[in-house]
Amino acid sequence: MTDSREGLLSIDLQAIGENYLQLCGRLASGSHCGAVVKADAYGLGMTEVAPALYRRGCRNFFVATQAEGERLRAALGDDVNIVVLTGVRRGAELDCARAGLIPTLFTLQQLRNWVDICAQANIDALCAVKVDSGMTRLGMTPEEFDQLLANRELLHAANIWMLLSHLACADEPQHPQNRMQLESFKRAGERLRAQCPDVLLSLANSSGIFLGEEFHFDIARPGSALYGINPRPGSENPMRAVVSLSLPIVQKRHVSREQAVGYGATQHAAAGSWLAVARGGYADGILRAQGGRGCGWGCGRRLPIIGRVSMDSTTFDISALDDAERDALESIEVLNDELTVDEVGGYAGTIGYEILTSLGHRYYRRYLGS
Ligand SMILES: *Cc1c(COP(=O)(O)O)cnc(C)c1O
Repeated sequence: MTDSREGLLSIDLQAIGENYLQLCGRLASGSHCGAVVKADAYGLGMTEVAPALYRRGCRNFFVATQAEGERLRAALGDDVNIVVLTGVRRGAELDCARAGLIPTLFTLQQLRNWVDICAQANIDALCAVKVDSGMTRLGMTPEEFDQLLANRELLHAANIWMLLSHLACADEPQHPQNRMQLESFKRAGERLRAQCPDVLLSLANSSGIFLGEEFHFDIARPGSALYGINPRPGSENPMRAVVSLSLPIVQKRHVSREQAVGYGATQHAAAGSWLAVARGGYADGILRAQGGRGCGWGCGRRLPIIGRVSMDSTTFDISALDDAERDALESIEVLNDELTVDEVGGYAGTIGYEILTSLGHRYYRRYLGS
């Protein structure tokens, strides 16, 4: 039975699968599409989402942490590659190797430790190396990468499966940093392949796929676009929406005289308005920054949030509805095909990624197309 008393979060696995196939279709020939399922598949449930992607042919998965990788391994079995994007902690190498996870390594020291520990344990494990091509986040510095290339012994002991790097500005196609990072990564790839010809190269996240075939290399790493976030902000979204979220109304009220609404009395409801208080607040991922700015959706219309968002409830101004619509209204959607994660992110002064990864755990979660 569907218990949606605390809100109903619908996650469309069919749409995620179609988004995956669409991205596959956009890739240059010879380039494969992986999937980033870190942070519980951006809040949507990794153990539901990953098998849906597997059924569409995905065999290369990316997670953020070793614990996520271990859960994913248990969910998918042995015939997938699982790359841990934030590396391996000192002391956890053996567990990582035994679980068959591929750590992303950023320093020579990390790589040496990894090689030594795998050799001592007699495990023939793969690793990935990340090189910084200009984002200045995770990745080997150019100096360290030079040292790696000069260290033939380490290179040949290391069993490097993939060289990757990450784009800082892929969602801004005109940004000059994209081409700069592309050239830097291409060069790094050529130099590494001169010594290890089988190493796979991976650069593109979701938006990177839309920058053109040169960015695709061997394996693309989309996350957000799979989950319906627009990979080309400012242009029409080519991806299918994946989530809808509906909050039950727990009180409707008529306001006879102008009145302040909610904590801090920050906004006033005009005399004669109708308000709906819905179950779902910032503890459920209705970001507080949406207070007085965001909206919900009911009867085919946007209905403004009035006053501050509370921990467990949010108040909407539903005065735009006629009497019959108002009487029939039992819930308010705060995400759907029209009211997208990108739009809602805009109201909260953030991005769709944060809307998805903030989705709370009090909702009833329904998976469609599983
Ligand atoms: C999160 C992440 C991705 C996926 O990025 P999207 O913009 O969600 O497609 C790819 N690569 C790395 C290294 C990441 O951390």
